[in-house]
Amino acid sequence: MDRETFFKTAFKKILKSGFSLIEDHPVIDYLENITDETEEKKVRPPGAHPSEQQFQDRCTGCDACMSACPVNVIFIEDLEKRYPLLYPEKQPCIHCAGYPCIQACPTQALSLEHGSTLRVLT
Ligand code: SF4
Ligand code: SF4
Repeated sequence: MDRETFFKTAFKKILKSGFSLIEDHPVIDYLENITDETEEKKVRPPGAHPSEQQFQDRCTGCDACMSACPVNVIFIEDLEKRYPLLYPEKQPCIHCAGYPCIQACPTQALSLEHGSTLRVLT
């Protein structure tokens, strides 16, 4: 096991043990499903419209979701389009209480009606 894999594995175990205190927490399912293949993928914030085209049509790149995130895991995908993006292998979403990122979105690009799954970009 190389150094990077060692630290990734240790980090996931720490997160899982912490969140295991909370029943049915969505981050548990997410962490359980992380594989070496998915770790490198990018995801939209929770509540993102299930259709990527619909999401992009609604997102104005206002940065409100990014500013609202208390753990600073939302980044700008592109300096021109400014769509929000997460890199879960580096800084996972902790699905914090009340989903402030979703609450901050003025356009329904993020909405609780879309659920809280982190949609992986293909
Ligand atoms: S649920 Fe919380 S941690 Fe996850 S992206 Fe939204 S504000 Fe950030
Ligand atoms: S708050 Fe909504 S509209 Fe603004 S950048 Fe985030 S997803 Fe896009």
